[in-house]
Amino acid sequence: MAIAHPRLAVNATWTQTWRCEGREPALSYDLLQLLPEGLYCPAGGFYIDPWQPVSRAVITHAHADHLCWGCQSYLASAESEPLMRLRLGRSPSAGASLQCLPYGEAVTIGEVRVSLHPAGHVLGAAQVRIEHRGQVWVVSGDYKTEPDPTCTPFEVVRCHVFVTESTFGLPIFRWPSQAAVFAEINAWWAQNAAQGRASVLFGYALGKAQRLLAGLDPSIGPIFTHGAVESVNQAYRTQRRLPPTRYVGEENDARAFKNALILAPPSANGTAWMRRFGDFSSAFASGWMQIRGARRRRAVDRGFVISDHADWPALVRVTRETGAERVWVTHGYNNAFARWLSEQGIAAQAVETRFQGERDDLAVEEVES
Ligand SMILES: [Zn+2]
Repeated sequence: MAIAHPRLAVNATWTQTWRCEGREPALSYDLLQLLPEGLYCPAGGFYIDPWQPVSRAVITHAHADHLCWGCQSYLASAESEPLMRLRLGRSPSAGASLQCLPYGEAVTIGEVRVSLHPAGHVLGAAQVRIEHRGQVWVVSGDYKTEPDPTCTPFEVVRCHVFVTESTFGLPIFRWPSQAAVFAEINAWWAQNAAQGRASVLFGYALGKAQRLLAGLDPSIGPIFTHGAVESVNQAYRTQRRLPPTRYVGEENDARAFKNALILAPPSANGTAWMRRFGDFSSAFASGWMQIRGARRRRAVDRGFVISDHADWPALVRVTRETGAERVWVTHGYNNAFARWLSEQGIAAQAVETRFQGERDDLAVEEVES
């Protein structure tokens, strides 16, 4: 893995650096570098969530923007194994290997001690802790701090440098109580069922759909799934209990959908696939639903504010609790969050990666207009 002048690559791709007068960190070298392939750890010879195939990849979670197909070896959490195998195929690729590590256990890669810690984002999601000569960095991947029965809860990991996402890194993002949101979802479904109308609930197929499923009240009616959701459900069921579901394609009688809730990925909205449900009400579950106009732009009847990412108060609290003296802010509102952190006396810089988080281009337009 010979990489010439990695420093040049770093400086070429950072957009903006926010530093505090007189608070330059004492660390003499960076444990991670941003290279064209992704975040690289020279002392360990591995990448974390590379976006191009590399020889050694440490993976935070199985979402497509963090799990690149075609690497030679993968290290991921033991809890993520069923999702890793689902996404990579039974044999990841010719000659590739997958090593799964329980949360909190350490391995040594090159000169670096590597361990994975729960990120609370989706099943198996991990923060990557790397330690080299007493210096500790933590890469959060995507994370959330709200309780979620479908994955292990987030844990704060103390570090010198914290690499954090910032998908919802603006003060306007504050999630309502989840109990209230699930009560709203179940009430919407019950009302539709009472009127003989199907309820189609859109959410990301990996993670969001299973979290929604765990919060549904199966006494209201049957729960059906789109094929993309059902395959992920099967992987989750090897580790978590979920209410029973049926694959939509197995049901030929349209009457079966009249009091049903159907879980589908957002990409199914407005497609011919929807015709089978006859009269239906639709809803989208996403953090972006907090933005006025987002529901209309998504062309759904209802929007439920529920995200698998940290909201603003959680981003701020976690970043402080890590004790980090320096912060790299990746995907999302990275410039805004990095600037805010630097104003609070924490040296922070925005780092341009190819991670996308729960990006909704339509809603982003709304926020930025
Ligand atoms: Zn993710």
